[in-house]
Amino acid sequence: MSKVRVATVWLGGCSGCHMSFLDMDEHLIDLAEKIEITSSPITDVKEIPEVTVGIVEGTVCNNENIETLKDLRSKCKILVAIGDCAAYGGISSMRNWFPTEEVLRRAYVETESMVLGDIPDDKILPKLIERAKPVQEIVKVDAYIPGCPPSGDEIYYAITELLAGRIPVWEEGRIHYD
Ligand code: SF4
Repeated sequence: MSKVRVATVWLGGCSGCHMSFLDMDEHLIDLAEKIEITSSPITDVKEIPEVTVGIVEGTVCNNENIETLKDLRSKCKILVAIGDCAAYGGISSMRNWFPTEEVLRRAYVETESMVLGDIPDDKILPKLIERAKPVQEIVKVDAYIPGCPPSGDEIYYAITELLAGRIPVWEEGRIHYD
């Protein structure tokens, strides 16, 4: 049986959701027989090929995030938002309370550890969008894995449901793998 191809990306996130993916521990051995991770921060392959499942971590924070997200959406059949940042905006969207310029000044100039800070302004750098957004505000999302981060067991549950042709459904306190 051919393996289901999976690609993952991270946008404005802390990488904790990808670390949780690795926390599936022995389940990874089971999944390795069923899925192939193509491009991913884990494999360090940058070009996204056509895949069945795309998994996105993190908030949409800048123009590069939008491009990456749209690229993944166009290459996958099922898009999964993993973690509260991707699903709801999460930590990164806390900056939405402040104007973008003020956020940049706080980060690059006023931070207590900064000496002679300056806001980077090189055209090769991604530009912050005015408001950090959850993934669903940019593209259609087919499934969610909530949590900050979701546990390895929860990610395993979601992937096995998808492999069975079902969209994972979440009820609080539901998942127990002993
Ligand atoms: S949901 Fe939590 S663990 Fe995942 S990227 Fe956001 S802050 Fe990090």
